[in-house]
Amino acid sequence: MSLRESSPDESQGAFSEVFEECPNCERETPHDVRVRIRTESPASEFAMFSREPYRVTECRDCGRTEKVRMNNV
Ligand SMILES: [Zn+2]
Repeated sequence: MSLRESSPDESQGAFSEVFEECPNCERETPHDVRVRIRTESPASEFAMFSREPYRVTECRDCGRTEKVRMNNV
């Protein structure tokens, strides 16, 4: 009788990794995904709209980075 309770493949790492279509590689590749708040023209009267979260994905195969705005408004 053998019980296996521990799983050896525990995911580790600070960033999240997802598989996404890369237009450069023309296939699905692993991407590093980070979310950045980019501040644009902080001194303007539109300062309240200046902080927009960006989703930055970087292809691990070719290094292509893509920034996508996250605000759904
Ligand atoms: Zn790529």
